[in-house]
Amino acid sequence: MSFTPSAEIFALVDGNNFYVSCERVFNPRLEGRPVVVLSNNDGCVVARSNEARALDIGMGVPVFKVRDIIRKHKIVVLSSNYTLYGDMSQRMMGVIGQFSPRQEIYSIDESFVDLAGFGQRDLRAYGQEIRQRVRAWVGIPTCVGIATTKTLAKLANRCAKKRPEYEGVCDWSRLHSAQLEHLLSTFPAGDVWGIGHRWGGRLLEMGIRSARDLAMADLALLRSRFGVVLERTARELRGISCHGLEVTVADRKQIVSSRSFGQVTTALEDLQEAVTQYTCRAAEKLRRQAGVCATLQVFLQTNAYKTTEPQYHPVATVKLTTPTDDSLRLTKAALSGLGRVYRQGFRYIKAGVMFTEILPTTVQQLELFGDSASPASTSTLPDSRARLMVAMDRVNRRAGPGTLHLASGGIRNAWAMKRERMTPAYTTRWEELPVAQA
Ligand SMILES: [Mg+2]
Repeated sequence: MSFTPSAEIFALVDGNNFYVSCERVFNPRLEGRPVVVLSNNDGCVVARSNEARALDIGMGVPVFKVRDIIRKHKIVVLSSNYTLYGDMSQRMMGVIGQFSPRQEIYSIDESFVDLAGFGQRDLRAYGQEIRQRVRAWVGIPTCVGIATTKTLAKLANRCAKKRPEYEGVCDWSRLHSAQLEHLLSTFPAGDVWGIGHRWGGRLLEMGIRSARDLAMADLALLRSRFGVVLERTARELRGISCHGLEVTVADRKQIVSSRSFGQVTTALEDLQEAVTQYTCRAAEKLRRQAGVCATLQVFLQTNAYKTTEPQYHPVATVKLTTPTDDSLRLTKAALSGLGRVYRQGFRYIKAGVMFTEILPTTVQQLELFGDSASPASTSTLPDSRARLMVAMDRVNRRAGPGTLHLASGGIRNAWAMKRERMTPAYTTRWEELPVAQA
């Protein structure tokens, strides 16, 4: 078997311990200290600094299970500040995008860029340039993996992270087959992109232990036992590119906004506040992709883990007379759905809103019995409501989510998420800008 060199070259740029790194940009005292960031409601560990990893704090572990280690080693514990991470991510992606005409934003902290036309350059040096500019302009440390397929670029990135001698950049794009084979033999198959726990165990039973074993495996056999996805992964490990860059983000077919409450509630008033806020958040996303919603669902949940308590998990579906992107009309519809399914006496832990039928603004119909003969969507008409929505989105983008909101969203929010250790919105709220002292 031989590894086939492909004409493509991909670089994967990945933020190191991204959430922790975002926090460190604004609080340099966290540098060198063990830090963990918790999930919504301060439940589980979702990010760890290298120092916290070294203390054996597992990914996803509930925080109460590691309380003793946290106390003993003075680990800094923070609530997740997704507004900050999202904003830092955008800045980071903007800088990375300067290095190639084609970029895929793969996750909040990972981006592929196309370096196919850059083959003549010293790609290691180019990778260093990317790292340095992101570090200097945004403050986030990154690693760069370069290879002829996305799957190999992922592994090269892992290599750059794990082995300090590479100084954060691994370029596998010009390796000989033998060199690549050797490198692949040093990774367990479970480390390969998309394998993980799902297939790792079954591969092991077939004697496929390393990434090299997977690359060498019989493709027809892989296909018959696991399907075409794993076959493609094996091809990619051989250097045959099967996955191109996904440059354009497809519009979402559904938009969900839901969250567990910080504490259970039985009150309709609390649920109305939550549903209003979730609907407005979803509506903002809807307007961003220039869509209108034709059908939405509202759902409620009691705590399924508390088996001794009465359970109730209703869903209300509401069809809008005219598809719309107007927060007020969508909220009215969602609240009517909530009113239909709400029952007293249950202890609700979660509510959510899902826009299940989304159409592009261009195909919407006229409202036959509407209050005007014009299209009812706010996006197509420069009427006052459309201007209100535009203004609301603009204010909330600049001054922070929820600055302008509907009255039924409430200001009490007794049900809201627990975020007891959250850092300020350093980059998205004027009042919370960091202050430099000289
Ligand atoms: Mg990362």
